[in-house]
Amino acid sequence: MLPRRTAREFGPRGHGGMGSIRCERNAGQPLAAGTSAAGFDADVAVVGLGAMGSHTAWRLAVRGIPVIGVEQFAPGHALGSSAGKTRLFRVACLEHANLVTVARRSRALWQELQAHTADPILQITGGVMIGPADSRVITGTLAAAEAHGLAVERWTRDQLVERFPQHQNLAEGSVGVWDPEAGVVHPEAAIVAAVHAARAAGAEIYPDTRVTAVDLVDGGAVVRTTAGSFTVRQVVVTTGAWLGKLVPGLGLTPMRTPMTWFDPADPADDSFTLDGFPVFIRAVDQDNWIWGHGAADSNGVKIGPDHDDNFTAVDPDRVDRGISAKDHALVSELVSKALPGLNPIPVRISMCMVTHSRDGQFVLGRPRADPRLVVGGGDSGHAFKHASGIGELLAQIVAGEATYVDTAFVDPDRPVAPDESQAR
Ligand SMILES: Cc1cc2nc3c(=O)[nH]c(=O)nc-3n(C[C@H](O)[C@H](O)[C@H](O)COP(=O)(O)OP(=O)(O)OC[C@H]3O[C@@H](n4cnc5c(N)ncnc54)[C@H](O)[C@@H]3O)c2cc1C
Repeated sequence: MLPRRTAREFGPRGHGGMGSIRCERNAGQPLAAGTSAAGFDADVAVVGLGAMGSHTAWRLAVRGIPVIGVEQFAPGHALGSSAGKTRLFRVACLEHANLVTVARRSRALWQELQAHTADPILQITGGVMIGPADSRVITGTLAAAEAHGLAVERWTRDQLVERFPQHQNLAEGSVGVWDPEAGVVHPEAAIVAAVHAARAAGAEIYPDTRVTAVDLVDGGAVVRTTAGSFTVRQVVVTTGAWLGKLVPGLGLTPMRTPMTWFDPADPADDSFTLDGFPVFIRAVDQDNWIWGHGAADSNGVKIGPDHDDNFTAVDPDRVDRGISAKDHALVSELVSKALPGLNPIPVRISMCMVTHSRDGQFVLGRPRADPRLVVGGGDSGHAFKHASGIGELLAQIVAGEATYVDTAFVDPDRPVAPDESQAR
């Protein structure tokens, strides 16, 4: 067996630019726990240690599978799709009923991961979905709840107004659905903890190391990085907004997506705390939804529009991180109408990216059933809440285990219907 080598020991081999997957012969072998096979530096490489990749590395490592994790920046960085301190966590997932199972698995895994950090990962506050009874925010949430027998509460307009008077100017026919299992997850803390847990379970982690190409070769893959190359039997590519660069043809579009925080119009108003104003998604009118939650930290009250024509497709290596008035024009207008207790001019804006798939569902699995390659991406703006459950799924796929949920709806080669996803 070859001695384990570190990527840094190899030295650069002249692969400065970004190349996509190259394919030689197609052959893979089943993985086993323990040491990696002769001729391999590890059984698995996970490329990109953001939301999906950090948790995949952790779930592989706890299985005893030799794994190398490579991240171009420092884990928990602010340059991909997982910065901004909070993400909405919901269990009654209106995007697909199977996601209820993934959200519950994620919650259990985050409870386990909490042992690796003093920083809170998941806070359950409950959350409310608001819109006309026939709007997708309501029908999708109820469909997921009914499919899984979730104990959601249905509120009339009056009950909604009484419980959360911060929401004003409700659309005609609005009702509420209360998801008691909703809350916020803290992305940077979760990623850092997952990388820490992966390393503690035996994973080799290489931060600040960019993968420049993945060559699928006979029996495995050669992963080429800015610090050298290594050979593995399988590679998991979870590079978020950069996924299309390494694995083209998945139908992904990274979008420049600002995040915006607001303060109460009246500084004495204490009704916009996280407890007093927990997570919500709201159909403000026929064309626009907003999502958000009360102040979870000093950043303020986080509110965003579900989609905004000012948010544009980007090359993730060339994102304009400067802020202009266009970046908050729509959300300011919607806040002004729907949440008049807030000052509609954001107190904070920072840049992020959403990577849309063609149908709004994630892209998880083996493209063309290749035994050497697994991808995880296409977050479509609602994947962080599922990150640990996705890590577990990708680890199961790599290890050849039965998956805990049917993954046909996220298969990279699925037939696609138009994107109906409108939620976080
Ligand atoms: C404004 C906004 C609000 C959102 N709100 C919610 C929400 O409320 N709830 C929710 O569930 N989801 C939400 N999302 C979506 C969620 O944040 C994403 O689904 C999630 O962060 C995507 O994770 P990822 O692993 O695909 O990408 P990332 O976390 O960005 O990870 C990809 C990683 O790969 C690394 N990488 C890329 N290329 C290379 C390379 N060549 N070599 C090495 N490393 C590489 C990157 O540096 C990065 O660390 C929101 C997204 C945005 C932008």
